[in-house]
Amino acid sequence: MEPMELPRLFDRDTLPTRPRPGTAPAGQDILTVAQFGRPLLGHIFQRADEMKVMVERAGGCDLLRGHVLACLFYEPSTRTSASFIAAMERLGGSVIPITQGVQFSSVSKGESLPDTVRTLEQYADVIVLRHPDVGSAKVAADYAAVPVINAGDGAGEHPTQALLDLFTIREELGAIDGRRVAMVGDLRHGRTVHSLTRLLLQYDVSLRFVSPDTLRLPMALMNELIDQKRDVRETHDVADVIADADVLYVTRIQKERFADLAHYEEVKDLYEITPEIMRQAKEKMVVMHPLPRVGEIHYAVDADPRAAYFRQVKKGMYVRMALLAMVLGKA
Ligand code: ASP
Repeated sequence: MEPMELPRLFDRDTLPTRPRPGTAPAGQDILTVAQFGRPLLGHIFQRADEMKVMVERAGGCDLLRGHVLACLFYEPSTRTSASFIAAMERLGGSVIPITQGVQFSSVSKGESLPDTVRTLEQYADVIVLRHPDVGSAKVAADYAAVPVINAGDGAGEHPTQALLDLFTIREELGAIDGRRVAMVGDLRHGRTVHSLTRLLLQYDVSLRFVSPDTLRLPMALMNELIDQKRDVRETHDVADVIADADVLYVTRIQKERFADLAHYEEVKDLYEITPEIMRQAKEKMVVMHPLPRVGEIHYAVDADPRAAYFRQVKKGMYVRMALLAMVLGKA
């Protein structure tokens, strides 16, 4: 029988070509905040501003149409996964969400991270990874041919959170230079604290760290600050920092990182930001939190105009839109 001539689904000559990563930093992984200098930060913030205007006016656009994001989360997440999914979809792209269901995927059959990413890259143009092991994002990036974005590697880093934190400070206070940033809570395990502190080293800021002795900032990071002769102080008490803080960055005690739960019980309720404490704060300052909160900020603080933590969530989507566009060669 003669083969039947089928009509073509697409005309190859008129199909748009997909942009291949060409100009840096398109096509690059986002693994650590060490990759970001001030010019690039300025560029990302400008793009995030543009995304904000676009979303407010039109809701979304087609910039990433035809691109697929794989969201691979081995640890729980609400905001980061939803934020990346919303960011991709508002830019017209689509998402393979392997988030809450990792236990139902081949990972539960013992598949290795390198094999999982080498599979996902067959479907997707970019992979967002959250994993409990420090350094896991780097391992994934070493194997993947598509860009990998670190969405939290254990107690290591959370670079996109730090970028959105910085964007929030800039938007809320107008500038980052000259500010006093006080971080409160689990500074030892808090990856958002580690990434934000490193990123803030690009700016002229003073840093205050409030934690119990057992949850102080890791020694290596503190030594970096001291080597750079930064204006840094550590204390146990929020009362020591509240009056002068431009940014109060509150964090959760990271229960899942404690080997000894009795120790967690001892420290879990040490800090709570209340309206009384806020009365001692400047009139123009912001309270931020990477969320989720589990008692560190009293609900009564939410009505305070200085409480920026939910605004921070929205700004995160704009920053992630800018980052996705960047690594996919569209910015
Ligand atoms: N959501 C942030 C993170 O993934 C903060 C937290 O979990 O406390 O690191």
